[in-house]
Amino acid sequence: LRACQRLPKIELHAHLNGSVRPQTIKDILDERSRAGEALPVTEQELADITVGGERSLRDCFRLFDVIHAVTTTHAAISRIAAEVVRDFAADRVVYLELRTTPKARPEYGMTKESYTQAVLDGIDAALAQLRAAPPRAASQQQLLPADAPAAAAVALSPAAAGSTASAEPGRQAGAGAGAGGQGAGEVASPSHAQMVAASEGVVLSPRAAPSHASAAGVDVAASVSSGTSAAAAAGAGAKGPGTMAESGPGEDVITVKLLLSIDRREDAAAALETVQLAARLQSRGVVGVDLSGNPYVGAWSQWEGALGAARAAGLRVTLHAGEVVAPQEVAAMLAWRPERLGHCCCLDAELAAQLKSSAIPLELCLTSNVLTQSVPSYPEHHFAELYAAGHPVVLCTDDSGVFGTTLSREYAIAAAAFKLPVSALHELARQAVEYTFASAAEKERLRRLVARELAELE
Ligand code: 5GP
Repeated sequence: LRACQRLPKIELHAHLNGSVRPQTIKDILDERSRAGEALPVTEQELADITVGGERSLRDCFRLFDVIHAVTTTHAAISRIAAEVVRDFAADRVVYLELRTTPKARPEYGMTKESYTQAVLDGIDAALAQLRAAPPRAASQQQLLPADAPAAAAVALSPAAAGSTASAEPGRQAGAGAGAGGQGAGEVASPSHAQMVAASEGVVLSPRAAPSHASAAGVDVAASVSSGTSAAAAAGAGAKGPGTMAESGPGEDVITVKLLLSIDRREDAAAALETVQLAARLQSRGVVGVDLSGNPYVGAWSQWEGALGAARAAGLRVTLHAGEVVAPQEVAAMLAWRPERLGHCCCLDAELAAQLKSSAIPLELCLTSNVLTQSVPSYPEHHFAELYAAGHPVVLCTDDSGVFGTTLSREYAIAAAAFKLPVSALHELARQAVEYTFASAAEKERLRRLVARELAELE
């Protein structure tokens, strides 16, 4: 895991509200409680958010509704966006494509546009903060943001997983630090627990520590390529305090782009509104559109028109596909040829063959797929087959807060589950650049950045 934390990584499938720190949900509720507001969630629902662990896909969507019931203000949305960016930066993610569903909630004075502005403001604030005070990390522990509760530790705690009765919603990093000591029979998902334990021991580099993880710590500077972030990014070329061994002069170390998601509950008009908003906000770093939400809901024909409009506006499109058995829909999605696909867990042999011949890059989220039981276990994950076939794949987190993971952990789990050598992990990190929705110039810069950082590790 520690070695994977040093890899320069590209995150292409991360849902904003699924990446929320559990502690932040608790903080927001505490604030509302102090203000005398009636709380929108029960103790049990709060426990469900904070304990993590295995849950079905249907339960996940109930959980998202609970999170959305808490995050109703623009300030909360900005805070979550800022924290998520900082968490990914601290995990050595050098390029992040964050996605979120713009929400029109008139009861809270929120429009899709104001929601999205709040997200962009949060991203800008994080980038400004990172520039002023880069996270410094000399050890694995310090690679996590100092103020972040270790969601992974909380979520993976065997006592907590699957046992809501014993849940301690407010548990912090220290409390969950013993998560590695799972006893057989205590865990809700032995395959997950075992793989996480195995991933802890993955050793990738013969070097004790790369030069940028020296005692002086890692300095992470940030930049944003979006227009209105210009003020915040005014010092983009300027280095933060200390040295920045891993970046060249004036180079960005983390770049953040935004995808706007269409929720499968939305009708054609609502989907089109999201696409039009994305098109207007391209100058602020919105690069694409995603289709996500409960896979048991809605029909492809509802969103096809809006997705066509996205394509016409120059936006890239990625689709959640095949999370449940839905052969006709997956066939229609493959025929539409999005720039990327997510998941594709439940494809029959014919669709799997079509996917392979399409060569459409696939975002794969190992922990999410196993914990939601979309795939039975890590070794049986379709990553293995697709990787062996040379299909373009990129490891992603999906919902790091809900599933208690990090991108480094996903790399470590892949290494352990599929017995990948160091060189394969480096190649995965390198190839991920090609699947981004970044411009040609940004891709070229990322290629150089990733190559240089990997060379330091090799
Ligand atoms: P948000 O869009 O509110 O920032 O992030 C949470 C939303 O992302 C969820 O309500 C859901 O629509 C979508 N989402 C998060 N994880 C998944 C997933 O694993 N599958 C699908 N289909 N949608 C997801």
